[in-house]
Amino acid sequence: MEKLEMLYEGKAKKVYKTDKDDRYIVEYKDDATAFNGLKKGSVHDKGVVNNKVSSIIFAILEEKGIPTHFISYLNEREQLVKAVEIVPVEVIIRNLATGSIIKRLGIEDGLVFKEPVLEFCYKNDDFNDPIINEYHAKAMNLATESELAKIKEYTFKINDMLIEFFKDKGLRLVDFKLEFGRYKGDIILSDEISPDTCRLWDIETNEKMDKDRFRKDLGNVEEAYKEVLQRLNI
Ligand code: 5GP
Repeated sequence: MEKLEMLYEGKAKKVYKTDKDDRYIVEYKDDATAFNGLKKGSVHDKGVVNNKVSSIIFAILEEKGIPTHFISYLNEREQLVKAVEIVPVEVIIRNLATGSIIKRLGIEDGLVFKEPVLEFCYKNDDFNDPIINEYHAKAMNLATESELAKIKEYTFKINDMLIEFFKDKGLRLVDFKLEFGRYKGDIILSDEISPDTCRLWDIETNEKMDKDRFRKDLGNVEEAYKEVLQRLNI
């Protein structure tokens, strides 16, 4: 597969065209941003770790029946993926309350929800990815009713699988963000699943092993990301 011109550069990844219309190459960068780009930095080898972590998780999800954009791990920083059109709706699922929801709803940090909470956000940096509901998504033509139904079904299944998967590695899956894409008439899981997009707490100590270390200047960001990868490889 030949890598052609760059199609898009995001905050953490670059997307390239290839000589096949239905394939893209995604390159993971070390750049780190938070608070919608207000905080900028870089974490040594973050791209290498996230590319590996996301490849491992997407391969497992695919094997368990979730359709994804992932095709293959190419090298330390690159993956071959299906050329999707991203649905401009970010999906967040929360098992424990922390982050933006505790400020929005005034609930206790670390509260274990009775059942997982699913939220939709409009993927729009200019407006800080505002929270929306399904009526907004349909009315604004962001996604259809049947697309939203599939997205919800896959998201809850992914959450159930990943809670168990991470528990086995001594990690609590607090919350995470997913993005889906359209590909040949189907909705498939896209983007990445990594310590950049998930909150992961050590089961024993509750130590944060994710991007909150960067967001909150907790130190040892690189070490925490590497520790997550190491646990996944066991
Ligand atoms: P919160 O809304 O509490 O800030 O984030 C909830 C979860 O979604 C966290 O795991 C967070 O990492 C993830 N998340 C939400 N929006 C984004 C985003 O724009 N980029 C990334 N990397 N993760 C996000």
